[in-house]
Amino acid sequence: MNNEELKTKQIVVISTKGGAGKTTVSSALAIHFHNKGYKIIALDADVDAPNLGIVLNCDGKEKKVLRASEKAVIDYDTCDLCGLCVENCPENALSIENDELFLNYYLCEGCGICEYVCPVDAISVDETDSGELIVGESKYGFKCLTGRLNIGEGSSGKVVAEARNTAKSILKEEKIDLVIIDGPPGSSCSTMASVTGTDFAVLVTEPTPAALSDLERAIFIVQHFKIPYGVVINKYNLIPEFEEQVLKLLNKKQGIILGQLPYDENVPVAIANLQPINIYAPNSETSKQIEKIGKKISQILFNSVDKNSFSSER
Ligand code: SF4
Ligand code: SF4
Repeated sequence: MNNEELKTKQIVVISTKGGAGKTTVSSALAIHFHNKGYKIIALDADVDAPNLGIVLNCDGKEKKVLRASEKAVIDYDTCDLCGLCVENCPENALSIENDELFLNYYLCEGCGICEYVCPVDAISVDETDSGELIVGESKYGFKCLTGRLNIGEGSSGKVVAEARNTAKSILKEEKIDLVIIDGPPGSSCSTMASVTGTDFAVLVTEPTPAALSDLERAIFIVQHFKIPYGVVINKYNLIPEFEEQVLKLLNKKQGIILGQLPYDENVPVAIANLQPINIYAPNSETSKQIEKIGKKISQILFNSVDKNSFSSER
């Protein structure tokens, strides 16, 4: 087998709580794998608050409008203000104010009941812009995709799915070894959409009061989709005994610890400078740990530590 035969793999980095260090890990892994010779795409699926593209200095060459949700559209010339749609809207998204039918766009779920009950076909449901997908190039030399949800939009899972479909179409045109997905925090449908179909999940946790139950939820999600996973404990040295608790949980859940990142003052400074930690402080303890974590993931996915050694090892 040679390099040409590497099959594209996808990893997703998630945590069920925001601020656990997910983007620090995913941006550093992107740099790690790129430096090891893998052809990668970095995909920001944290569509409510995307910042992977910012840390990786991605330009926004190409923008694609995503139409992933549906909303009511009123034909004001035909509407005779009978009020039937207002009475029947389950979301109370419609009202008549000052002799005009008013739609609260943010409440409308696009269910179509108003269209069904309107006697004069004055209201219908149509696809609407729900976000955008930015396709660009990182200044570090690889492609990046950023999904962004419009304010007030609820179709985050569909926007993530669109972003992943676009990544898939790039894979068909270019020989990509690895897609690194920075997933959304929490356990919503957008998290599910970023996890499904991946080859490996990196679960980032940190020692906080609710961390174990959050981690258990993240494990539940990846196990539901039968995705192998490993855990990264961030700021582990704040409460060293936290590792014991995580290990106990992983013994029951058949997971592994990929590595532990220390509390490191370089990390917030790297973020403030909009740089991945292994660019800003390549000799820091965090960067050394990221190197080890990246090697473990390479062994799991490719049975190799870097792409250049891939053909010679086989
Ligand atoms: S589509 Fe459904 S939620 Fe939206 S305005 Fe019509 S009835 Fe209400
Ligand atoms: S049901 Fe039709 S005609 Fe009546 S208020 Fe609604 S849109 Fe206007």
